[in-house]
Amino acid sequence: MKLSLANKLLIGGAVFCALGFVFYATRKEKKTSISNVLLLGGLDTRKNDKNITAQSQLLKEGLGNDYTIKAYRYTDGNGLKAQITKKSKVIVVLFSAGCSQADSVAKAMQENNQDLSNLYIVEPYAKSDRVINSVTSAIELGVPTKNVIVGKSKSVGKDIVDNATQTPECSPSHWCAITEVGKIIRNRTSYSSLEGGKKDEKIECNRCGWSWKVADGGNDLFVCHKCGNNNEPNK
Ligand SMILES: [Zn+2]
Repeated sequence: MKLSLANKLLIGGAVFCALGFVFYATRKEKKTSISNVLLLGGLDTRKNDKNITAQSQLLKEGLGNDYTIKAYRYTDGNGLKAQITKKSKVIVVLFSAGCSQADSVAKAMQENNQDLSNLYIVEPYAKSDRVINSVTSAIELGVPTKNVIVGKSKSVGKDIVDNATQTPECSPSHWCAITEVGKIIRNRTSYSSLEGGKKDEKIECNRCGWSWKVADGGNDLFVCHKCGNNNEPNK
């Protein structure tokens, strides 16, 4: 039987579509997006402090609704560490006073086959040698320095490690850093799920707030074309 050119094209097209679909479906299945976030909060005992529920809410503002947050007071590092298991992947955010646990949390993550690039250390109190040592050993274990988010003075982490990420301009200072790290995590997840077909998701610039679709990002997906800031979380 001889096929006409039109039929050949039709069959070819159908095969191509089928292969494309299988390819797409397989890729989609491989997507591993981590949605469990653990927060070890900052001090909540001074006059203008926010309680752990309010701190968790700030993180949620940055993360959006696709994540489940479990929040622990800065005194309850053990409660948080009990949630780090081999069973499911987690993202951990240590904020302010919570950063004093950086070393032991990083160890717990390592022992449970967790990816240390999912540990974020936000505005640690860099006036304390104990905190400096804890953060430094977490970095030595393999936490990327970019995951350390620092403000403009020692008390909010300035100079604690080289190549840290600067907290974007936000308000009220220090507390808003929790929301900003939420945005960083969300952006990073959009990136990792790129292959899962989430191209409609948006990336928001950590510095100026300009946003663009992942689909429009091109090769420099994370570079803001308004202010030039590179928003890539773990480079
Ligand atoms: Zn920008």
